[in-house]
Amino acid sequence: MSRYKGKPCYYCGNPAVGKEHVPAKQLFAAFECDSITVPGCATHNTDKTLIDQAFVSALLIPLNNGKGRYNLSDYVLKALSKAQPALEHTKKKVFSAAIIDTSNNPALKSLPLVSYTSLYLFDWMRQVTAGLIYDVIGEYDTSIDWNTSGSWSPSFIDSPTSRTYKAADLYEEFQLRSQFEQEILRGLKWFEGWSAKPRPYPKGIFRFQVHFEHREVLFRYRFYDQYSWYVAFQPSLQTLRKLWQKTLTHNLNL
Ligand SMILES: [Zn+2]
Repeated sequence: MSRYKGKPCYYCGNPAVGKEHVPAKQLFAAFECDSITVPGCATHNTDKTLIDQAFVSALLIPLNNGKGRYNLSDYVLKALSKAQPALEHTKKKVFSAAIIDTSNNPALKSLPLVSYTSLYLFDWMRQVTAGLIYDVIGEYDTSIDWNTSGSWSPSFIDSPTSRTYKAADLYEEFQLRSQFEQEILRGLKWFEGWSAKPRPYPKGIFRFQVHFEHREVLFRYRFYDQYSWYVAFQPSLQTLRKLWQKTLTHNLNL
C-alpha cells in the first residue's frame, strides 16, 4: 500500500491513496492470475466500492441472459458461474441506483449483442487504458486528457435516459457499428498487448491490442471473447516512444 500512497494518480494526477488494479480484479475472480497495479486517488481507486463489480456485471449480464445464443468458452462459463451471486447483488444495489440502465423491450432481446449502459462504462474503459499507460511509463502523463479520449464499442451505446432509441433505429445503429469494425478497424495493424506477471490474465477473459497511427494510439480490448472496446488518445512523444518500445519488445518476444 505505502508503495503507492502519495504518488500521482494514474488517471488524474492527484495524490494516490492506494493501489488500483488494471483492469479491476473482479474480472478475474474465478481465476488464479496476477494483477497490473498502479497508484490511484480516492476517486479513481474503486477497489472499495461496488462500481468495479457493477461494470463487470454490465459485461456479464447480457452473456448470462443469452447463454444459449452465444458460443461461450469454458473460461467465460466459469466466470459467469463465479459471478452469479454478484450479478444478483448488482441488480439490486446498482441497477436501482441507475448506474446501469437496461431495457425491458423484448424485441431487443433477439439482437446479437445489445446492451444499454450509462456513460460510466465508457469512462471505465478510459480508466483501464490510463492504468495501462501508467504501467508502461511509471508516471502520470499530464499531456493526456483522459476525459475526452475516444471510447467506443460496437456492442454498447449510451443510456436511453439521455436519448431514447426505437428498436429499428437501434438495430440499424448496431449494424453500422459492426460494419465499421469489420471493414475499417479490423484492417488496421494491431500489436498484442502485454499482461500481468508472472501469471498472466486469462486471454479468454481479457486481452488487448495496440495500434499506432502517427501521433495517435488506439487500444482494442476484448472481454470474455465476446465484446470489443476501443479507446483512442494522443500521448506525449515521450510516452509514445515508451509505449512503442514496450509493445515492440513484447511482440518480438511472443
Ligand atoms: Zn484520480
